[in-house]
Amino acid sequence: MGLVIYSYILKYLLLNNRLLLNNRNKNTLKLKSIKKAIDSTLIGFIEKLGLMVNPIILNFKDTNSHLLIFYFHGLYESQSQKELNHIDPQNNLTVSQFTEFIDYFLYHNYHFIKPKDLLTDLPNDQSYAMITFDDGYFNNTLAIDVLNKYNIPATFFVTTKNIFENKSFWWDIIYKFRMQNNTSLRKIRKEQEYLKKFKHEHIEKYIETHFGTKATKPWSDIDRPLNPVELKQISEHPLIAVGNHTHNHSILTNHNDEELKKEFEKSNKLLFDLTGLAPISIAYPNGNFNKSILKITEKSGFQFAFTTQNGINILPTIDNKIISLKRFMPKPVSIKDYGSFVRLGYSPDIIYLNFKKQIKSFMKK
Ligand SMILES: [Zn+2]
Repeated sequence: MGLVIYSYILKYLLLNNRLLLNNRNKNTLKLKSIKKAIDSTLIGFIEKLGLMVNPIILNFKDTNSHLLIFYFHGLYESQSQKELNHIDPQNNLTVSQFTEFIDYFLYHNYHFIKPKDLLTDLPNDQSYAMITFDDGYFNNTLAIDVLNKYNIPATFFVTTKNIFENKSFWWDIIYKFRMQNNTSLRKIRKEQEYLKKFKHEHIEKYIETHFGTKATKPWSDIDRPLNPVELKQISEHPLIAVGNHTHNHSILTNHNDEELKKEFEKSNKLLFDLTGLAPISIAYPNGNFNKSILKITEKSGFQFAFTTQNGINILPTIDNKIISLKRFMPKPVSIKDYGSFVRLGYSPDIIYLNFKKQIKSFMKK
């Protein structure tokens, strides 16, 4: 009911937004910034409305058989580490925020499971959650004490080239060097998004040309990847599974089938040789995938694959090969507020973008 009411309010606001913009001058730059301001106001509006209605809806909402999967990137020891700008923050949490995060879902009776549990008969009168970490940062080891304390499993998806060659991740290199030169965050994001259109070879050349040959050297324990010895130790931890995140963190939709196979196989071989275990899970870098990637994923022997599409997974999944699981990215905000959205399976920015799409297609008719 609450969602219906605010979908009507949103439609009204969006129509006004269009009228308002039509009457503005034709300076596109100005229009862009006005549009952005309206977008963020409306997203803020949905968020406020959501915070009022979510707790009411949650009183009636049945979350049994829901599986919420979360993907973290880096963790900070403390807030002051974040301010050093050694790493792109990407909504990273501090360890204490991570602890509160786990506490919140345990309090709401979510049972933390690992990918393999999806192949068993999970009781349908419970709600489930899963923790994943993408990329292979050394700082992910900060999670281990928390996982031990609550006896909670997690999967670490690692990028083997960075680990075996001790190289910083390219998006962090752009972030830290640009921040040093006081580049605006908007420009940094634009540069990172631009590079995501290319294959990894092109990105590597770009980094070398713009930041020099030594730019891939990590600055500290905050931005460095795990090393092979640490990764081997982690793989032996009973609560942690190591998953494939490709060898080069390649955005798979930029590659042909042969290149995809190589990305999967090279990483799998390195991980098998190091840990003695072949990964059964993969997380698609940047979340990009298509039908052909799904096919190759299955053929490559992965049982589980994780996307970055937001949403609740409903159990049981149709077959045993679960190759496009949805995930939510945690945010360093009030866990009570964040949790109320994800437990209902939406986030204000995504609901807004979907409405915007609907209004656009309605207006075209
Ligand atoms: Zn990644």
